[in-house]
Amino acid sequence: MDFSFTEEQRLLVGTIREFVHRELKPLEEDVEAGGYLADDVARKIRQKSQKLGLYAVNIPREFGGGGLSFLEWMMAEEQFGRTSDILIRRAFGNVYEILLEASEKQKQTYLLPAVTGERTFSVAFTEPEAGSDAAAIRTRAERSGEGWVLNGSKHFISDGLFSDFFVVTAVTDPTAGVHGISTFIVEKGMMGFTIGRDQPMMGLRGTSHVEMQFENVSLSSDHLLGSEGQGLKLAFATLGRVRLAQVVARSIGKATLVMDQCLDYARERRQFGAPIGDFQMIQQMLADSAMEINGTRLALWHTASRIDAGEEVRGSISMLKVQAAEMLGHVVDRAVQIFGGAGYCRDLPIERYYRDARIYRIYDGTSEIHRAVLAKQMMRGDTSVYDIYG
Ligand SMILES: Cc1cc2nc3c(=O)[nH]c(=O)nc-3n(C[C@H](O)[C@H](O)[C@H](O)COP(=O)(O)OP(=O)(O)OC[C@H]3O[C@@H](n4cnc5c(N)ncnc54)[C@H](O)[C@@H]3O)c2cc1C
Repeated sequence: MDFSFTEEQRLLVGTIREFVHRELKPLEEDVEAGGYLADDVARKIRQKSQKLGLYAVNIPREFGGGGLSFLEWMMAEEQFGRTSDILIRRAFGNVYEILLEASEKQKQTYLLPAVTGERTFSVAFTEPEAGSDAAAIRTRAERSGEGWVLNGSKHFISDGLFSDFFVVTAVTDPTAGVHGISTFIVEKGMMGFTIGRDQPMMGLRGTSHVEMQFENVSLSSDHLLGSEGQGLKLAFATLGRVRLAQVVARSIGKATLVMDQCLDYARERRQFGAPIGDFQMIQQMLADSAMEINGTRLALWHTASRIDAGEEVRGSISMLKVQAAEMLGHVVDRAVQIFGGAGYCRDLPIERYYRDARIYRIYDGTSEIHRAVLAKQMMRGDTSVYDIYG
């Protein structure tokens, strides 16, 4: 285990930090005020990111991506985490690894254009009646000749207005339980596929979250991703790693940014004739936040190095998801407190960080579900989540 940086890694971190600071952060307030990122601005962000070699940097080189190791991907995501969700999406791409499971033909049609940014996609699993219980979906793909006919609905699908196609879960065999679910690629514009309402959220302004309906959408075998009946297995296997990127690494980046601002404020803001950072109760909040951020980052790096070594880390992913989401919640909550009324007032971004952070305990599996997964893993005898020598 060697956590010292190589020159390339330092360059990667420095480049993204500078790019986020110079190109993305100045756009945050407009996006927040308008609730929208214009398409031409989105395109320019992608082009600038591509020029620096940062777009789809997580995807292997053979498909046109940056070919980072898992640990490096986490370092990159941490830096992207320093800005808003929608700006990260346009600068980094939404190129989830689930498309690496595509057939050769599908890779040409979907993966390669996603890596170049010509096309964007989202994953659509959640339904009004099936959230945490992902196996309880009602969307149904019924066999019809060589293909399927898709009927059902999804909701809360991130980036749905911008995306060109979606990886969708559907029941293909209602008698087979979790082994009766398959994933399909559904393209915007297909007959019978409707994007519905953009559902208003507490935070994440600028990113759309949509309802969608499928009414007799005709799918061919070219739309089936992976094998029939293996949809949930495929989703859980590939999206676990995405959780580390989207939630854990980005939480650390956000928390680090907030921490910098808390320190500046604690030095500048004076009450009772002294900087508030001189008061021990403020110092305790600063110290607690620093300890939690650092502990979460080291735990992530350890798990990332195990992933790079090819180890199975399912329990650790759940543990980190909860740890990071709750760490960020504590850090932004303390930030509002340290800033006092200015932390609650919309003139500063602190209240926005507080609202945006709240989602991390909910999506990509709630804290309750991940605690349950972690506990079950330990009950089955996997103690490696807390005893690395075990
Ligand atoms: C902003 C946003 C973006 C999203 N983006 C996407 C997306 O792009 N694609 C997608 O497919 N989905 C997306 N989702 C959906 C998200 O993943 C779900 O909201 C999440 O999985 C929780 O499901 P639910 O909302 O139905 O809550 P429920 O499952 O109804 O849970 C309600 C409460 O019950 C608890 N609970 C449920 N089951 C148990 C249990 N067994 N033990 C203990 N407690 C339990 C939960 O932890 C929670 O506290 C998004 C949601 C939001 C809000």
